[in-house]
Amino acid sequence: MKNYHMLIPLLLLAAGCEAIDTSTLPATPAVKETTMPSDPSDAKPEPEIEPIEKSDEEWKKHLTEEEFYILRQKGTERAFTGEYDKHFEPGAYACAGCGLILFESETKFNSRCGWPAFYAAKAGNRVVQTPDYSLGMVRVEVTCARCDGHLGHVFEGEGLGTPTDQRYCINSVSLDFIPAEELKKGMAEEAKPAAQPAADATAGKGPEAKKVEQESTEGTEEE
Ligand SMILES: [Zn+2]
Repeated sequence: MKNYHMLIPLLLLAAGCEAIDTSTLPATPAVKETTMPSDPSDAKPEPEIEPIEKSDEEWKKHLTEEEFYILRQKGTERAFTGEYDKHFEPGAYACAGCGLILFESETKFNSRCGWPAFYAAKAGNRVVQTPDYSLGMVRVEVTCARCDGHLGHVFEGEGLGTPTDQRYCINSVSLDFIPAEELKKGMAEEAKPAAQPAADATAGKGPEAKKVEQESTEGTEEE
């Protein structure tokens, strides 16, 4: 057993998503509210998340074998192999099972753990945290709130210098990246031009602008 000391890191790697520094892990998994950095685009109330329930047979119809293994059977992709491990483009990461946006590029950081790491999930209870005692470890599993797909685990108190001191260790296979330009297009379609503030038209103060102002604001102007 002279190689026994080599086996321990290998076993940990095989387990996947291990804590970077287990000595600082709390004895019991702490499930805490995540505080997101303030972002005006998140100010609107979050829509209710309607759970999606499908049989394994139904899931198999539109998931790849690898997606099914990780999302539905709580598998883990091999470290340092995931598509998004070293991916730092602006945009968002949606659930590969149901398309719900779960993470944003602003909270992604390079933890060097071999899997995509985020210090927070997107606001609005989009992910569910559940204590996981499998593989002889105490971890907190992270799943999609809509389709219950397995995403990975969340660790905290590792001292990685992130704003929340949390690390969402997520399988790339569980995620689909949406570039920022595509997100903007989606938002532009949602925001109808009816909400255009009238003040914009009066900013010019030229005769044209004044006419618009008189028509649109009905007597609020002092002559
Ligand atoms: Zn999902």
